[in-house]
Order: sequence, then structure tokens, then C-alpha cells
Amino acid sequence: MNIGILGAGQLAQMLALAGYPLGLRCTFLAPEEMPCAAPLGEHLRGGYEDAAALASFAERIDVATAEFEHIAPVALDALEQRGLLAPCSQAILLSQERLQEKSLFTRLGLPTARYAAIDSEADLAAALAQTGTPAILKTRRMGYDGKGQASVAAAGDLLPAWEALGRVPCILEARVPFDRELSVIAVRGRDGECRTWPLSENRHEDGILRVSRSLANDPMEGPARDYCERLLNALDYVGVLALELFQCGDQLLVNEYAPRVHNSGHWTIEGAVTSQFENHLRAIAGLPLGVTAAVAPSVMVNVIGEWPAARDILAVAGAHLHDYGKSPAPGRKLGHITLVDQDATALRQRTAELLRLVGVEGTA
Ligand code: AMP
Repeated sequence: MNIGILGAGQLAQMLALAGYPLGLRCTFLAPEEMPCAAPLGEHLRGGYEDAAALASFAERIDVATAEFEHIAPVALDALEQRGLLAPCSQAILLSQERLQEKSLFTRLGLPTARYAAIDSEADLAAALAQTGTPAILKTRRMGYDGKGQASVAAAGDLLPAWEALGRVPCILEARVPFDRELSVIAVRGRDGECRTWPLSENRHEDGILRVSRSLANDPMEGPARDYCERLLNALDYVGVLALELFQCGDQLLVNEYAPRVHNSGHWTIEGAVTSQFENHLRAIAGLPLGVTAAVAPSVMVNVIGEWPAARDILAVAGAHLHDYGKSPAPGRKLGHITLVDQDATALRQRTAELLRLVGVEGTA
């Protein structure tokens, strides 16, 4: 079976690696000359809005999926009309627009931070009355890795923040005093079966995920799974989805979802019976889903901007190194490293070694 992937970055690369032993082959559509997934399948070089490129992509594949969510509707339509796209366009389009996404959560009864829409200067005061301060102003579209966001500490910050974001349609959210940032990765098959992996606890720096660790039997797992299943079923979703959450005391709030495999689920490659990548492929290919249980507690550390020496990483016992083969640039995710260990003390010590190597302060 040939899997078509829109995009050819590291997520496409890891999907292709997971598919290979199952006999699944990948075709990537991406405009870059030499994207990092290209050596792992057939790379069709073309734009996502190029009808001819989309037609030739569609001819080669049995099913199409995406490694990123900011995809033009024309590409999604072209693939959906041919019956190829999974997950469906609705699930991808809703995640592109923060207000629609939050409204969907509200309709499904999933609790969120207080939020309000901003379309014009006249909306600013009412939005602030709704959220209070401190708040975060976010562009409704094209926000990722902390981009398109501005902090609103006091009422007087809102107008300058909105101007700094280009006076585009925004959403204002109350800043949540969270205790932990969590995510739940889930998969839904073509027959509607849902499975979730153990929760991930995530640490961000400058809006970018830095460290994720898997949590065994966390008290928030039940509500997180319930939220996720409501969302998957409402969207009639097929494939892997990640739901990002804030825990405040004993309350769990939903932040956003990604209609794809997710960085906070990379630990599942070595740390779970079936990885998020393999289960995404199984789901979209109509194959039985794999077991999502953890094999042991895991920690995943992102390598961002520059690499420490590979030999230093590999000298840490049990380190699994994933080098995406991308050229270094500030803020760019170049790879990740995973540790999996039943022994909590050993895991903590080795994680501290890795964090020192990649220049992260503190503990996981
Ligand atoms: P997002 O692009 O919505 O995932 O936001 C990026 C990061 O900003 C999150 O991972 C949080 O660390 C932080 N953040 C976003 N929204 C809020 C919020 N309403 N309250 C507190 N922190 C937030």
C-alpha cells in the first residue's frame, strides 16, 4: 500500500520509518528541494495548491494524510473528493482557526480557559471584560510553537499587542495558572475504535516543546481520555490526534488539538508497544490498531538549534538518538533523544545528563 503524505519533514520521516516494516511505502508531496523525509520514499516536488502536482500525487497513492495542519483547503478538497484523505478535511480545517477550535470544545462540553473573539478595535474592551488579566492574545490562524502570540499583563497592553500582531483576527484567552502542561495522544480507527497512550507531561521553552515524559496511571488520564474520545467521535476522526491540556489543581482544561502525530508523542517509538506513527498508519490504512500501553516510563528531550556531539549523547546509557538530518538554525527542531527505563532513579539521572548536554536547565 502506498501512503501519501502532505509534507516531508521529520513527522513524515518517522511515519515512513514506522511504515517500512509493515510493507507500507510513502510518497511525499512537498515544495522543498531536499526535505528530510525525501530519502525514505518518493518525493514529488510541488506546491500544495498546485492542481497538477496534487493530481499526480493522488494517482500514486492509496490513502493521503498530512504531517502539518496549515494546509490550503484546495489541497484537502482535491484529496477528499477522490476519497483519499484521512483524517477528514473538517478535522484539519477546524484546527487551523483557534476560535472555531475553541467553539468546538465548548460545544462538546470540554472546559477551556475563558476566551473572546477580536475582529476589530471595537471588540477589545468587551474581550478584556470576558477574560480579565493576565491574558494571552493569539492570532486565530497560523499560530504554532508560540508564534503569533502576545502577552497581555494589564489592560493597557491589549491595543499595542493587537497592533504588534498586525490587527488580524485574534482570540484573547485568560492566562491559566497551570500546575502542569499535559497532552494526550489518541488514535481512532476506521471502525470508530479509540485508543489512547498514557499521558505526556510537557515542558516548553520560548513556546517550543523541550521535554516530554510519559506518566504512568496519572489521575488526569481518565478525564483526558474522555475529552479526547468526545472530540474524535464528533469529528468522525481517523488516525492519530494530540490534545494539549492544562492542569490547574484538580481541573483539566483543553488548550488545542493537532490533527496529526505530535512531538509530545515521540517517546512512543521506544516507550510504547505501538508508536503513534505506526498506529496512525494502521488507522488510515484500515488495519487493526496496535496496543498503546507503555513498556516502561520514558523521557524525550528535543534537540533545538544546535547539536551536542553525537558521541556524548550515545555515551548516556540507553539513549535513543533521532537525528532528522536537518541543517541547524536557531529555534529549529533538529532531532530528539529518548530514554526508557523501569528504574525511576536511573531514568532521572540519565535525563539530567541529557539535559545538561542539550543545555536545558533544571530537571525534567
Ligand atoms: P499554544 O500555541 O496555544 O499551544 O501556546 C503555546 C504555549 O503558550 C503553551 O504550551 C503554554 O505554555 C502557553 N499558553 C498558551 N495558552 C495559554 C493560556 N491560556 N494560559 C497559560 N499559558 C498558555
